[in-house]
Formats: sequence, C-alpha cells, structure tokens
Amino acid sequence: SVILAIESSCDETSVAICNNGKITANVIANQTIHENYGGVIPELASRVHQQNIVPVIQQALTDAKVTKKELNAIAFTRGPGLLGSLLVGVSFAKSFALALDLPLVSVNHMHAHILAHFIDDPKPKFPFLCLTVSGGHTQIVLVKDYFDMEIVGETLDDAAGEAFDKTAKILNLPYPGGPLIDKHAKEGNPKAFKFAEPQIKDLNYSFSGLKTSILYFIRAQEKLNPEFIAENLNDICASVQHSIVHILLNKLKRAAAQYGIKEIAIAGGVSANSGLRSALQDMAGQLNWNVYIPAFQYCTDNAGMIAIAGYHKYLKGDFVGQDVAPLSRMEF
Ligand code: ATP
Ligand code: MG
Ligand code: FE
Repeated sequence: SVILAIESSCDETSVAICNNGKITANVIANQTIHENYGGVIPELASRVHQQNIVPVIQQALTDAKVTKKELNAIAFTRGPGLLGSLLVGVSFAKSFALALDLPLVSVNHMHAHILAHFIDDPKPKFPFLCLTVSGGHTQIVLVKDYFDMEIVGETLDDAAGEAFDKTAKILNLPYPGGPLIDKHAKEGNPKAFKFAEPQIKDLNYSFSGLKTSILYFIRAQEKLNPEFIAENLNDICASVQHSIVHILLNKLKRAAAQYGIKEIAIAGGVSANSGLRSALQDMAGQLNWNVYIPAFQYCTDNAGMIAIAGYHKYLKGDFVGQDVAPLSRMEF
C-alpha cells in the first residue's frame, strides 16, 4: 500500500509517503514568521499552510518516486491543534481523496507522536510507557496496542515545551526557544541555579510554578546586574533544562515502577532535547529499562508519524467519510 499523509496542526506543513510500512518521503516546511512573536500566531500559520501545501505535496511525491495514481489512501491529522491550521490539511486531504477516489484515514496527532516509534527499528513491545512531551502536551501514556492507549499522568497547566518556550521568551530568545535553550545548555553548568519543583503526589505534572520561579529569579538578579542574562545565559539555560528534565524523569520513573513496565519511550518535540535524551539513557542503565528515542526528524511535528499511524489504520480498514471535520480538541 502507498499512503500519503498530511500534517498541518500547528506551524509545520508536512507531507509524507508510507510505502508498505516504510517512510519513503517526509517533507517538512517550517514557518519562520512566528519567531518574533514568542509563539505561533494562528491566523498567520493558517495562511502559510495554504501557500505551502501544494509544493510540499509535490516534493513528497517526487522524493518517494510515486505518482498520484499509485496512492491507495490519504491520511491526515484531524486534531488536536489550531483549527485554522488543521482546516487547510483536512480540506486538502478531503479534496485530494475525492478527486482520486481514495479512502480517507483520520489520525489523532498525539497518537501519531507515539506511533512514530513504529517507523524504524528497534520498535517498542506492547505494553510500553511513553512520555509524550511537546509544545502543547505532557503526558505519560500506557500504550497497550497501536490504538489502545491510556493517559496515566499529564500536565495540569503548561506543557514541557511551553516551559522551554516561555523561559526562552524571558531570556529574549526567539520562538521556538526549546532548541536554543538546548544549545546554550551544552556550554553551561546545570547546577548553577536552582528553581522550585512542583509538589504533586500522583503521576501528573505542573510547569507553571517553575516558569514563575524563573521569571522572579531573573527579574531579581537583573535589579542587581542589568547584564545578568547576557553574562549567565549558558548557566541559566543549563539549570532550567536540568530542572525540567528532572521533573519529567522523576514521574516517568514512578510510573514505570507503579505499572511494572521496563519498555520506556519518549516522543514529541521535547524528546529532541539532548539533556532529556542523555538523562533517560542514564536512568535506563540504572533501572534496566529498554528505552526508545525517536530519530530527530520524527520528534517535532512531521507527517511521517501521521503516515505510519495512517498505515496501521489502513490495515484495519478504519476509514472516515467526506463529512469529517477537524477538531481543535480531540478525545485521546
Ligand atoms: P502538540 O504536539 O502538543 O500539539 P506541537 O505539535 O506544537 O504541540 P511539537 O512540534 O511536537 O509540538 O514540539 C514543539 C515543541 O518542542 C516546542 O515547544 C519546542 O520548543 C520543543 N523543542 C523542540 N526541540 C527541542 C529541544 N532540542 N529541546 C527542548 N525543546 C525542544
Ligand atoms: Mg512547531
Ligand atoms: Fe506535535
């Protein structure tokens, strides 16, 4: 089977091709227009998706060396995400499927972040636990099968990616700040500064307190030394990253013990973070976990993950009709 998949839930326009379970194209057009705003501006994102969608589709077909006639299904992200952004991908998928007389496969973006683990070997064995850390979500998911998943812990306020991005904004770094904090953290001391840790007893997370603690700390230091950020950027980034990673892995460790599971995966944009990746490897060594970390191109938003999720739905014959509409919030 040859499946074309479209992802447009946020600010990446992406199209991938899955050929018999192998990803043979994964084209991602990033939007740089949001850099100076500290976050994604929905109206602008939607407009850029409209400009990008046709050339990105064409590039994916070229990369995969397939023609429209060889396609067997069209998969698309139905939600969750920005409605105006989703609408571009969903409308295009529906028109394309109608024109080519192909079945439509609807994919949940958060399932897809996890199912990205089924693109390359080694693949996790069911049941496994997945820490999904992205721009809008932070979840510990018990994955029993491809489409049988249960959230066992999640953030009560900000997502981990938001904690990175909002800290970056405080530090006057452009959006998205996560990758830049990661870069500066490599040159800094993770023990230089300490920030308040949330006191939550169950498997849930909270990151809004950390953000406030960072903000107050920086403002207080700037009163003493206006150049505080510039002079300590690497140490601040390393310390913030260390705090976030520590909070994330503490709960993951607790979940693994509680469920007696040693198959552990991470997914989502923040799983690209080098501090998280190496701390997870260390923890895996200590606790005898088998850990699964996605290739960089499948961490942040990409259609490859939508294509593999679509492929597994295609195998089940799980299709949707032309009346399907995008959902900004979508049941897990
Ligand atoms: P969601 O999947 O929840 O709908 P999203 O699709 O916007 O949100 P992703 O594309 O999965 O999120 O991830 C984007 C997030 O990942 C941003 O917050 C970004 O800062 C963060 N991120 C990307 N690379 C890194 C990195 N190396 N270190 C830390 N954070 C990172
Ligand atoms: Mg993005
Ligand atoms: Fe995402």
